[in-house]
Amino acid sequence: MAQGGDPVSGRDAVRARRAYKAAMSPASALVLFSAGQDSTTCLAWALSRYDRVETVGFAYGQRHAVELDQRPRLLEALRRHDPKWAEKLGADEVIDIASFGALAESALTADRAIEMQANGLPSTFVPGRNLVFLTYAAALAYRRGLGALVGGMCETDFSGYPDCRRDTLDAMERALQLGLETTLTVDTPLMKLTKAQTWALAHELGGDALVDLIVEHSHTCYEGDRTHRHDWGYGCGVCPACDLRAKGWAAWRAA
Ligand code: ZN
Repeated sequence: MAQGGDPVSGRDAVRARRAYKAAMSPASALVLFSAGQDSTTCLAWALSRYDRVETVGFAYGQRHAVELDQRPRLLEALRRHDPKWAEKLGADEVIDIASFGALAESALTADRAIEMQANGLPSTFVPGRNLVFLTYAAALAYRRGLGALVGGMCETDFSGYPDCRRDTLDAMERALQLGLETTLTVDTPLMKLTKAQTWALAHELGGDALVDLIVEHSHTCYEGDRTHRHDWGYGCGVCPACDLRAKGWAAWRAA
């Protein structure tokens, strides 16, 4: 029973929420992990910085299940890579949001050609995808008391997806802090990096062994091709995602 006639939704509730806010651990993070090069590098970044790290992925009706198949392999490889990382790395959750995929149908989730649309965005753009991912991730982080969301969004990405811009993510971070009354942050360590610099960051975090692990197990190719092996990893070698990954690799090796 609330004291002094306060309704439960009044002062007591505010005090309770403030106490919960303090319980969100600033030393812990939830990484949006898709098993691609970028999110794997983000995961390594989080493991080198936070005491406790969990991962979340989304099944939204992608054309290929390759990414979902690669995630346990990558997580296992990261645990083997560094015993300290193995201690920090906690639960992995895959959330089914197929209904969103159906709603936001695009080349990634339906059998359509990957091409440039009249609005200047490639047909691979899934409207609002990162906003949906972050909302689900925030709900999970809130439950688990994790203080940060970490995502591989990047402004220098060729495609210029508007929901990858830091401006969008600043607004989203603010919306989540207000709407959930938390101190939750949205960390985007790759925001200003080129693909070559992302390879360099992986090398900085874990040397050749981490780079090898990302080459071998991470998946980027839009076509879901894991039969062609290149210096930079598996992929068809011609789709925009392969092209970007290959060019970044070449630029990093040449540096
Ligand atoms: Zn490809």
